[in-house]
Amino acid sequence: MIQLSAQCLDAIRTEGEKAYPNECCGALLGVIFDDDKRLVQSIFPITNAREQTEQYHRFEIEPEDLLRAEKEARSQNRDVLGFYHSHPDHPARPSEYDRNNAFPFYSYLIVSVEKKKAAALTSWRLSDDRKEIFEEVVKEETMAVIIQIPTALRGFTERKHEVEVEGQTVGEAINALAGKYPDLRQHLYQGENLRSFINVFVGDTNIKKLEGLDTKLSGNETVMLVPAIAGGA
Ligand SMILES: [Zn+2]
Repeated sequence: MIQLSAQCLDAIRTEGEKAYPNECCGALLGVIFDDDKRLVQSIFPITNAREQTEQYHRFEIEPEDLLRAEKEARSQNRDVLGFYHSHPDHPARPSEYDRNNAFPFYSYLIVSVEKKKAAALTSWRLSDDRKEIFEEVVKEETMAVIIQIPTALRGFTERKHEVEVEGQTVGEAINALAGKYPDLRQHLYQGENLRSFINVFVGDTNIKKLEGLDTKLSGNETVMLVPAIAGGA
């Protein structure tokens, strides 16, 4: 399954309409959790590198552009999960050409654009032996929050690095996390408040510089728990 926020889905549709009658392309950046659930948190549009006369039915990504996408993903603590492209006046199914050029692991999202209007949107994966290309479920996710768990607390989250929860604020998200893993709660909270040795970051910013636990989430951010480390003789 691949989940995308409404904003990401809209952005992909808009890219497809803008590029019409040619194909658009770009990378999908996000995280994998619960083994194989994928959450796309942002897209990285890339200029179609095919010759102009072929762009109506082909796309190509220059290695330099893919490298930029990889670097952008790293800087956001995300991974390149796959790629999107459009099929102008063509169904949202992978062509023989798409299949021959696909890699296993990546999600290949296709948006059909009919007469300049975005239509069906599907996602596909190539099997490891390259023998079949199978469709994966695309789900719109509006309030998914990914919480990154520090090594010290993973014993309480079934060793998961990342946990997906729902919440409109940082406080709701962390509370949902503690609800999911009750043994974790005592390490996060002292009474109603977060323990002083737990710092919480939204992206690169400590919530102390935002609105604390009331900091609003749009559903696209990664929340990170960072222990405060200190000591002395
Ligand atoms: Zn295609």
